[in-house]
Amino acid sequence: MAHHTYRVKGMHCASCASIIEKTLKKVDGVQDIQVNYGTETAKVTFDESKTGHNHLSQKVEPLGYTLVALAQPTAASMGMSEGEHAAHLGLNQSKDEKLAEIAAMKRMVASAIPLAVFSVFVMGWEILAQFNILPTVPYVWKGFFHHLLPLMATYMLFVVGKPYLLGFYRFLRYGAANMDTLIGMGTLAAFIYSVVVISFEDALRTFINVDSVYFDVTIIVITFIALGKYLEAQAKVKTGDAIEKLLNLQAKTALVVRDGKEVEIPVEKVVHGELIIVKPAGRIPVDGVLTEGSSYVDESMITGEPMPIKKSAGDTVVAGTINTSGSFTFKATKVGSETMLARIVKMVEEAQGSRAPIQALADKISGIFVPIVLVIAFLALGAWLVIGSQYLGFAQAFAFGLTSFVGVLVIACPCALGLATPTAIIVGVGKGAKEGILVKDAATLEKLHKVNIILVDKTGTITRGKPELVSIQNLSDKRDSDIIAILASLESKSEHPIAHAVVNYAKEKSVALLPVEQFEIIKGKGLGGKVGGVEYRVGSEKLARELGAEFASLEKDTSEGKTPVILAASGKALAVIMVADQVKPEAVVAVRDLHALGISVVMLTGDDKNTARFIADSVGIDEVVAEVLPEDKLNKIKDLQAAGSVVAMAGDGVNDAPALAQADVGIAMATGTDVAIETAGITLLHGDISKLVMAVRLSKMTMRGIKQNLFWAFFYNIVGIPLASGIFFPVVGWLLSPVFAGFAMAFSSVSVVGNSLRIKTKKI
Ligand code: ADP
Ligand code: MG
Repeated sequence: MAHHTYRVKGMHCASCASIIEKTLKKVDGVQDIQVNYGTETAKVTFDESKTGHNHLSQKVEPLGYTLVALAQPTAASMGMSEGEHAAHLGLNQSKDEKLAEIAAMKRMVASAIPLAVFSVFVMGWEILAQFNILPTVPYVWKGFFHHLLPLMATYMLFVVGKPYLLGFYRFLRYGAANMDTLIGMGTLAAFIYSVVVISFEDALRTFINVDSVYFDVTIIVITFIALGKYLEAQAKVKTGDAIEKLLNLQAKTALVVRDGKEVEIPVEKVVHGELIIVKPAGRIPVDGVLTEGSSYVDESMITGEPMPIKKSAGDTVVAGTINTSGSFTFKATKVGSETMLARIVKMVEEAQGSRAPIQALADKISGIFVPIVLVIAFLALGAWLVIGSQYLGFAQAFAFGLTSFVGVLVIACPCALGLATPTAIIVGVGKGAKEGILVKDAATLEKLHKVNIILVDKTGTITRGKPELVSIQNLSDKRDSDIIAILASLESKSEHPIAHAVVNYAKEKSVALLPVEQFEIIKGKGLGGKVGGVEYRVGSEKLARELGAEFASLEKDTSEGKTPVILAASGKALAVIMVADQVKPEAVVAVRDLHALGISVVMLTGDDKNTARFIADSVGIDEVVAEVLPEDKLNKIKDLQAAGSVVAMAGDGVNDAPALAQADVGIAMATGTDVAIETAGITLLHGDISKLVMAVRLSKMTMRGIKQNLFWAFFYNIVGIPLASGIFFPVVGWLLSPVFAGFAMAFSSVSVVGNSLRIKTKKI
């Protein structure tokens, strides 16, 4: 099975997405397809032995669409090999093409507007004259207008309105109807009727009102629709500019050391292990490890952390960030599509193109909308002819019937419906990326706004995750330095924050490490191993008591938030050390903000109960679950979910992976730029709990935008269709002119995209 994302050319409307999906689903070998109107992409999963890109594209070409192969945009945009670089150009090209398309639309609109203004002028004059507000149009002028309008309408229909006519043609030929079909059919009907009337004026005079023709309707409706499409396309380009901003972070060249000389090479030529020089104010071209020199690096564009970070030998630097005043050399460890920036771009692109569950209803509706509207339009026409004729006479009923027919077709386009969700998702995901909040997909962003409980890991989330050794209580006859040596030797094998505290302490005291044998991790409790032939255990109070070790109560220290670590051998406690971690000051504010959002916060930790309670109290956390094993964290989440809660879990993403996966929304809190961003639903690049609050707000903001959009999109259609069909006419005398239908239709799409863009400027 191959997964491919194609760019789709020729989509004009949400219903296009469902037409393409339906058509390609029928192709033998296609397993899954998702077409997104917002991003104009199609994600296809297919069996390569049965079908391929050309075959698939051929299937949709008669319907007016083309599938354009998109080489992996990330590798592409970041440039790695020559081939990928070529694809990089391809990506830019697609944007240029889009802009060229918009420019062409603009020219069409510019040519249409004077004609529309002229039509409105003539129409307005005739209406005002009817009410004796203006003198009647002089006979000569009238003749002139009535020769000019058909010519203008012909231009509008066949040149500006060509896409819509083609839509109607495809409907006749292949039976696939989209919004273009509706517009094409409506305007063509108005046009043909008018041509017939002016051609056979005398013969028809006895049957119908030959004075009312609809050339102006054709002209004005097409102008509105074309204008609306143009504004929509222009706004849509703006919704996606987050990706462009990220791509612009990529340096084009790198200064490398080759044969002892500094040479500037294109960034895609950089290879692993190469030494790269970064000058003051230079941009870091690839990911790597600093080898020489030191400086402060501004990583705000990636992590959202505003303060430049000090970097010296051994520290990692990532592509796209900017050096401040020092200069340094680093070794390239990740190039091309492997860099953090490339992965972020890929993730954002995929998330923007993914479909939010809330969209399902809108998709379903726009899929069946067009045929239903066709039926309604014909029913309205029929009803006018059959029922209307009895009251108004045939001539008048036919004129109204035609007005309704055209009006219904024009107003009922499901365009706004199709734009409602994707445009808001694109903007929301892009806005998040700018703040260092990476969202994996639209479904995650949607789920986050429903979360009512957030579980947080203590270490690294609420506390800094950088504990320090604060006291040693030696219970043995060994010297303190021996105790430290044994502890540090064992801990040097562990990655736990406590281990770092012990090892750092030993380093400070210049205590030499000893060889360790049979090292083992005791999950959630501590570790064990042999030093100098003696078997030791190091870990929590619980572990020590399980081993039968005895020591005085530790309550005084633990209730001050210190974590005890006990060294034991042969069931005896040899030493009790205390480590203490500091609470993050921003955690206090974040917990309060989460409460204000109606979310309760539960802290999970493997640490001592008293220690945990102290930390929780100092930041205002409601509930603590302490002394838990990793699998207990998982069960706690399951329990909460079974009780009906929507649970988010925020952890460091390293040893909390199963819990992150079980939660409705897994949030990985990265420290610095060293993260596996693909693992969690949401990754906070700056390991700051206040970003968690921002993520929740972003989700709520995006969902509110989507709901507003959907409301307006439905509202337009629900009110517009009956109004245009003339249902209200017998009661209150309302019949919507197709001209207003065109305006409403154009306005609905533009307002939906505009509302989504509003999210971009809002504060989170
Ligand atoms: P958390 O991530 O909530 O701190 P862990 O499961 O990582 O929970 O650890 C639980 C407890 O196990 C720690 O509080 C500590 O008491 C003990 N422990 C784990 N690893 C070590 C270690 N390397 N050295 C000493 N104690 C450890
Ligand atoms: Mg942990």
